[in-house]
Amino acid sequence: MILQLNQEHLQTIQTHAEITYPLECCGVILGCGKMAVEAIPTENAFPVESEKKRRYAIAPEIMLKTQREARDKSLNIIGIYHSHPDYPAIPSECDRELAWQEYSYIIISVVKGKASDIQSWTLDENHQFQPEEIKLLTPNS
Ligand SMILES: [Zn+2]
Repeated sequence: MILQLNQEHLQTIQTHAEITYPLECCGVILGCGKMAVEAIPTENAFPVESEKKRRYAIAPEIMLKTQREARDKSLNIIGIYHSHPDYPAIPSECDRELAWQEYSYIIISVVKGKASDIQSWTLDENHQFQPEEIKLLTPNS
C-alpha cells in the first residue's frame, strides 16, 4: 500500500513538528482508504512533561472527538503522525507496542529544530513495523 499525502498535509506536519521542537508533536490524519484528506495537529498529552521529548500521547477524548468529526465528513482516521526530535524517523519500541493495526504511522525526524526525513510505517501480521511508501501529491491533483 502507498499512503497518499499532499503538499499541504506535509507542510502542516513539518510546521507542527518544528514549532513543538524539542518536544514531540502528534496529530491525526483523516482520509479515505490510503488517501489523506486532512492533517489535524493535536496536543501531546503524554502525562509526564519531562518525557515529552521522546514520548507522545493523544488524549482518548480527542481521538473520539476526531473520529466523530471524521464520520460527519464521511472520512476515517487513517493515520497518526508524530515527530522524533533529534532522532531518526524510525519507530521506537513504545511506538510499536502502542500501535494499532489499521493506521499508518507517520514519523517525522526533526534535526536541530528543522523538519527532516519523513517515513510512514504500518504493522504487519506479526505486529512489526514495515516501511510504507508515501506518495506526495500536489493539492487538487
Ligand atoms: Zn516515536
